[in-house]
Amino acid sequence: PYSCGDKKVTLIPGDGIGPEISAAVQKIFTAAEVPIEWDVVDVTPVRRPDGKFGIPQAAIDSVNTNKIGLKGPLMTPVGKGHQSLNLALRKEFNLYANVRPCRSLAGYKTLYDNVDVVTIRENTEGEYSGIEHEVVDGVVQSIKLITAKASTRIAKYAFKYAQNNNRKKVTVVHKANIMRMSDGLFLRCVRDVAQDYPKIQFDERYLDTVCLSMANSPEKFDVLVMPNLYGDILSDLCAGLVGGLGLTPSANMGQNGALFESVHGTAPDIAGKDLANPTALLLSAVMMLRHLNLLSHANIIERAALDTIKEGQHLTGDLGGQAKCSEFTDAICVKILAGR
Ligand code: NAD
Repeated sequence: PYSCGDKKVTLIPGDGIGPEISAAVQKIFTAAEVPIEWDVVDVTPVRRPDGKFGIPQAAIDSVNTNKIGLKGPLMTPVGKGHQSLNLALRKEFNLYANVRPCRSLAGYKTLYDNVDVVTIRENTEGEYSGIEHEVVDGVVQSIKLITAKASTRIAKYAFKYAQNNNRKKVTVVHKANIMRMSDGLFLRCVRDVAQDYPKIQFDERYLDTVCLSMANSPEKFDVLVMPNLYGDILSDLCAGLVGGLGLTPSANMGQNGALFESVHGTAPDIAGKDLANPTALLLSAVMMLRHLNLLSHANIIERAALDTIKEGQHLTGDLGGQAKCSEFTDAICVKILAGR
């Protein structure tokens, strides 16, 4: 169905429920006649010439050529000597910004009805720089690395994102009252960038205050930008506000490309049973379409998915329904085809 001129996109189906939800996305994209061609790659580690295990070169070449990819969840092997594949991909492609929109969905009732926040997390340094050592027996140090370069880069990304997506406010989340130098530098960099965006409201908040307010009145927040560790925690908290990981998409933006992925794991308990909810991966794919400027395709698919959830006739188990992944997928395709 694809013409030769279609944009190529790398698809990493992943492990566990990954192949099922990836197939669901592919089916929905076909129904919506999205003009892209999938380049499906396997990232199961292989032994490299130097004897170490790593991502197959073909997969790296694919992402490097296409510059854009969609990724299902990957199993993290337990035990020593295995590099986390997610981390390897992040490093390989220098994915510096993790972007997670969390919006309340009509048809799936949670404690909150009006959440619409986007967390933007610096993804390369901070507490996760991986620099740790033992000083003496029983005493370890872990280094939190903050650079002006990475802080300014994430701040620019956040404000540009706000501008391009008609967002009103950017909140920087920090603890510069305690970590005066590291978070202080991060804060100063974001402040500097904020000056270039006078039309976007700028707000500074302590992490602990944000957690309290997020639980009390999440509607007060819009776009949030923060260092790595705070972003890791706060983005999961926000996902919880809107109904959990089965619904939350994400984008990892890099210097030379972008990787879009669902935030949940491989769900081994339901893998291979046609029970998974493909919404998170599908909404990640919708973010990818917007990144590719395929706006009308993105809108059609998003509308069909959200309407299917709202009507509640074909919900998967995690949303309290009894539909199989394939039934939910077909219901979305029917809506797309009816609208054509
Ligand atoms: P998980 O997200 O796989 O599962 C947690 C619970 O949520 C399970 O009950 C699962 O059935 C349910 N669930 C998750 N996604 C769902 C979906 N789309 N539809 C319906 N239900 C869904 O977390 P876990 O069990 O802690 O991790 C399993 C494996 O996934 C581990 O190997 C872990 O390292 C890996 N993991 C990978 C990623 C990633 O690739 N980005 C993220 C998190 C975990």
